Amino acid sequence: MQLRHPAVGALGLGLLLTLGCTGADSGSNADLRPVVGVSIFPVADLVQTLVGEEVRVEVALPPGASPATFNVTPQQLRDLRRASAFFMIGGGLDEWLADLPEASGADAPIVRLSDGIQLLAEEESPEEEAHGHSGGSGNPHIWLDPILVRDEILPKLVEGLSAGFPNKSNEIGHRAQLLADSLSALDEEIRTILEPLEQRAFIATHSAWTYFAARYGLEEAGVIHAHPGQEPSSRDLAGLLDVARDHGIPCVFSEPQLGEVAVRAISTELSLPTFLLDPLGGPGEEGREGYFDLLRFNAAQLVKGLGGTRG
Ligand SMILES: [Zn+2]
Repeated sequence: MQLRHPAVGALGLGLLLTLGCTGADSGSNADLRPVVGVSIFPVADLVQTLVGEEVRVEVALPPGASPATFNVTPQQLRDLRRASAFFMIGGGLDEWLADLPEASGADAPIVRLSDGIQLLAEEESPEEEAHGHSGGSGNPHIWLDPILVRDEILPKLVEGLSAGFPNKSNEIGHRAQLLADSLSALDEEIRTILEPLEQRAFIATHSAWTYFAARYGLEEAGVIHAHPGQEPSSRDLAGLLDVARDHGIPCVFSEPQLGEVAVRAISTELSLPTFLLDPLGGPGEEGREGYFDLLRFNAAQLVKGLGGTRG
């Protein structure tokens, strides 16, 4: 007679699960859905809307991380080896993604969403050569303008996804039309949220809001981190204090992905409150867990910080 100790069974099961995870995607718990690799969350959220839940969208940049200081992990390389398409912004924001297909062994093309867009100039200190987002060719924050997303980014997503998933291209095209309509409605909604603002100039943590400001008649009068990942010099800070005084700026905007030391220095010096703006959002970031909510959140924060209802 053979008695089986419960612990032996549990150990056996554990070993089986371990083998399943390291095996070639053959474990019963393995996620066998096709994969798309995307550099940043806001774009990944749009991609997920287009391809539906039968496709796994892997976001390379984790929530709270800055693209300026990010490094890809070995686990991510393993996760992305089955990817059918890769999407990045380009313009110096997320060049680390350009190496992923080869490094992960994936045989899939990369779509650079900023290709063909005339990028605005990045804010720079005159004496410095280095660029904000590591040697880019202009300001890469195009996803924060919903109209640029509708007219420039969305067609590239549709093209790249239809090539990666030819049997889903009709579905993707249909969802893209709905998404374009939603982006038009979001644009209207943001205009309504920002409408009462009289104070239109603001100081941002970094140059993420240039396209948003241009679209909605705001002025990004200064940025604290001209080079994300690098603290501003005392000369830069003195210049920002002048900008804030000249424009009667009522608050300073911080960002979750960049340090707050310089933000606090300015807010303390001028006795100004700080409010959060978030260019990336992500799962677990309350009120910013999708592209549309992220944009609404930032519009509302601008109104809170700049004092929309006075006068
Ligand atoms: Zn940025």
